[in-house]
Amino acid sequence: MNTNYHTIIIGGGAAGFFTAINLAERLPEAKIAILERGKDVLQKVRISGGGRCNVTHAEFMPKELSLNYPRGEKELLGPFHSFMTGDTIAWFEERGVSLKIEDDGRMFPTTDSSQTIINCFLELTQKLNIEILTSHNVTSITKEENWAVHTKEEEFICKNLVVTAGSSPKVWEMMRGLGHSIERAVPSLFTFNIVDKRITELAGIALEATVEIPQLKLESQGPLLITHWGLFWSSDFKNERLGRKRIKSIRL
Ligand SMILES: Cc1cc2nc3c(=O)[nH]c(=O)nc-3n(C[C@H](O)[C@H](O)[C@H](O)COP(=O)(O)OP(=O)(O)OC[C@H]3O[C@@H](n4cnc5c(N)ncnc54)[C@H](O)[C@@H]3O)c2cc1C
Repeated sequence: MNTNYHTIIIGGGAAGFFTAINLAERLPEAKIAILERGKDVLQKVRISGGGRCNVTHAEFMPKELSLNYPRGEKELLGPFHSFMTGDTIAWFEERGVSLKIEDDGRMFPTTDSSQTIINCFLELTQKLNIEILTSHNVTSITKEENWAVHTKEEEFICKNLVVTAGSSPKVWEMMRGLGHSIERAVPSLFTFNIVDKRITELAGIALEATVEIPQLKLESQGPLLITHWGLFWSSDFKNERLGRKRIKSIRL
């Protein structure tokens, strides 16, 4: 049994690291650990923004920024009044990472590499003595006086528990079991796998495109990125028909 943690954070992605670092900076004495089920942390940050990490967007008005979140517009307005784009830029600047604005407003590290963000997070967690425990898949959570967090082999006891496990139906189920209600998830970022060697030569090309899913009679317009394994695009599909459906073909 691992006792006496001030805070356990479930999930070693961007949200988990950001939470852990901010907490440790305010409470240097607190014993904090991040439990990550994978062999490595920050895997999505690595691939984000085509490997460049689109950290934020140069929109400085809370109301305007919230309009970009069709399902979180109301919920995010309050938090945006406490922590906005300017705070994100300052946060990274103060920790040695400069960001730049591109013509379309997207903001990336000046190095054009998501590794810069990963290094910033990893160096800070090390400096702040935050434990990073990889290959620790949380399988259940119980609450008595303190929280008990279980992996297959171990039990962690903590006063505070933060869940930043991304889109994990298993973790949502655990949260439901603890009395939380979970909003039904709908897809907004799409990857489309294409098994065709010709695509590897096009990898890295980003363009504005109209994407049609004939099977579902859906159409969306926006930025599309070609990767070595297929396509990646974000969509403004506002209905839930996609669900977990297997899409057979798309039209560009
Ligand atoms: C291809 C791609 C490109 C993207 N580009 C951008 C971008 O440029 N800018 C941007 O802002 N966003 C981008 N996104 C969205 C991006 O994924 C999110 O902004 C961000 O990574 C979410 O971070 P998170 O910490 O909430 O979740 P995640 O990064 O998903 O982290 C959750 C972590 O929890 C772990 N976990 C889950 N269940 C358990 C468990 N039971 N026990 C222990 N650990 C568990 C997972 O393994 C994972 O490491 C992109 C997404 C994709 C797929």
